[in-house]
Amino acid sequence: MNVLHIGIDDTDSPDGMCTTFLASQIINKLKENEIDILDYPRLIRLNPFARFKTRGNGGVSFKIENDEKADLARRIVLEEVEKLSMFDCDNTNPGVIFYEGEITGEMEDYAFRAIYEFITIGEAEEFGKSVGCEIHKFKKGRGIIGSIAAISLPLSDFTFELLTYRSSENYGTKRQIDYESVYEMDKKTFPDTFENIDYGENYIAIEPKTPCPVLYGIRSNTVEALKTAKGIVSVGEPVVDWCIFKTNQHTDMHIQKVDNIDSMKQFGCYEVVGEVKNKPKIIDGGHMFFYIFDESGEIECGAYEPTKSFRNTVSDLRPGDIIRVFGGIGEQNTFNIEKFQVISLNDVEYKNPVCECGKRMTSAGKNKGFKCKKCGKKIESSKKVPIIINRNLKNSKFYETPVSARRHLSKPLCRMDIN
Ligand code: ATP
Repeated sequence: MNVLHIGIDDTDSPDGMCTTFLASQIINKLKENEIDILDYPRLIRLNPFARFKTRGNGGVSFKIENDEKADLARRIVLEEVEKLSMFDCDNTNPGVIFYEGEITGEMEDYAFRAIYEFITIGEAEEFGKSVGCEIHKFKKGRGIIGSIAAISLPLSDFTFELLTYRSSENYGTKRQIDYESVYEMDKKTFPDTFENIDYGENYIAIEPKTPCPVLYGIRSNTVEALKTAKGIVSVGEPVVDWCIFKTNQHTDMHIQKVDNIDSMKQFGCYEVVGEVKNKPKIIDGGHMFFYIFDESGEIECGAYEPTKSFRNTVSDLRPGDIIRVFGGIGEQNTFNIEKFQVISLNDVEYKNPVCECGKRMTSAGKNKGFKCKKCGKKIESSKKVPIIINRNLKNSKFYETPVSARRHLSKPLCRMDIN
C-alpha cells in the first residue's frame, strides 16, 4: 500500500496547546472526511537537551493511505496547524512534513541523530528535501527538525500513552481529577501501566503541571491496560476528546552504550561503567555529587535535588564501588544520573588491628606500628587489617530516580528484564 506519512512539531508554547492535542483534532477532522489513519498516531521524544523544547521535546506523526483523498488530508493538516498553533510565542515555530512511501535507512539514521545530537533547521531542510519530503515551515519552521524525525524513527521498543483533553473553558484551572481513583487505577493496572503515582512524594504523575489542554496522560505497555485504566480514573470535568499514541517514551532510546568515560560528550545520554572515586557529597541546593573514573578519565555524576529520595540511595555509594550509570551530560558537564546498577560493591574497610585483650589498637606514630591503650601491647607492623562491612546496596541491583523525576525517555525498572 502506498502510504503518506505526516509529521508535525513545535506548535505549542509554555502557555498552551500541545502538539498531541492538535494531532488529535486533525485526526478527528480526517475521520469526518472518511479518512482513517493507519495504526496509532506516534508521539516521538527527541534529544532531551534540545534548546528550544517547550517541555519534553516531542514530535507527532501518523500515516494514511496515499489515495485520492490524500490532497484533502494535506489541506486539513495545514489548515489546522495554521489555526491552532501558538503563533504569538517567539519560540513556537511549527513545521509540517509530508512524505510518500517507505521510510529509508538514512531517514532512520537521521531520527536517531535527532535523539542523540543537535540538528539545525537548515540541515533538516536539506536532508528532508534530499529524501523527498514535502516541507512546510511556519515562522522559522524549527518544527521540521522534529517532524522528519517523528515520521522516521523505527520503534523496535515502544509504549503507549493515553491522553485525555479538557474543555477549552477549563484551560489553566485546577484539574478535577479524583486522586483516589488514580490510586485505585494504579493498584489494578500496574505494571501494565506505569509512572502513574510517585508514592514517596504522594505525587500524581498522570496530571500535567502546565496549563496545556491535557487533563491526564496514562502510560502503558498495552492498549488494553489503558482502556481499563481510563474506565477507573474518575474526573469532575468534561473530557472533550482522548487519543492513544504509540511512543518511544520509557524505552531508553536516548541512551548510547559506551566502553569508557572519555567517549562521552556533553549533551549526550549514555550507559557507562566506572569506579566511584569519592564519597557522594550534598551541596547547597540539595544536589549530590561524586566522581566516577576508569582508565580513560573521570566525570562528575549528579543526583539533583528533584530526585529526592534517590539521593539517599546514592549516598550509600563509597569509593571503590563499580557501577553502571545511565543518564545524560548536561549544561554543567555533569553526568545526570537516571539510574545505576551496582556491578561490584567495595565491602572492605581497612581498620587498625584488634589487640589480644579485645581493644582496637591505635597508631603508635608514623610507620611505628600500633599500640594498645588498655594493656600496653605493641605490634611493629603498620598494616591495617581488612574488615567486611555491611552495605545497604546490593550487588547486581538497579536503583532508579523516583517517578516524579523521571525523564520521558527513561526506561523504568518495571519495564526492564531484571529480577
Ligand atoms: P511538548 O513536549 O509539550 O510537545 P516540546 O518540548 O516538544 O513540547 P517543541 O515545541 O516541540 O517542544 O519544541 C522542540 C523544538 O526542538 C522543535 O522545534 C523540534 O523540531 C526541535 N528539535 C527536536 N529535536 C532536535 C534536535 N535534535 N536538535 C535541534 N532541535 C531539535
